[in-house]
Amino acid sequence: MAQQAVRCFCGFHVQGDEDHVVAALIGHALGFHQMTLNREQVLAMAEPVAGG
Ligand SMILES: [Zn+2]
Repeated sequence: MAQQAVRCFCGFHVQGDEDHVVAALIGHALGFHQMTLNREQVLAMAEPVAGG
């Protein structure tokens, strides 16, 4: 399964499989920015990691 990487505007970075980055960024956005993201929004910010 291809890995995904997402970087928050604050510099927070998470990489892993799709479920992991989605859960991590949703949790981060809520905890650090009081922002509610959904899966679609996270995946729109995600980039596939080459060579994983
Ligand atoms: Zn952030």
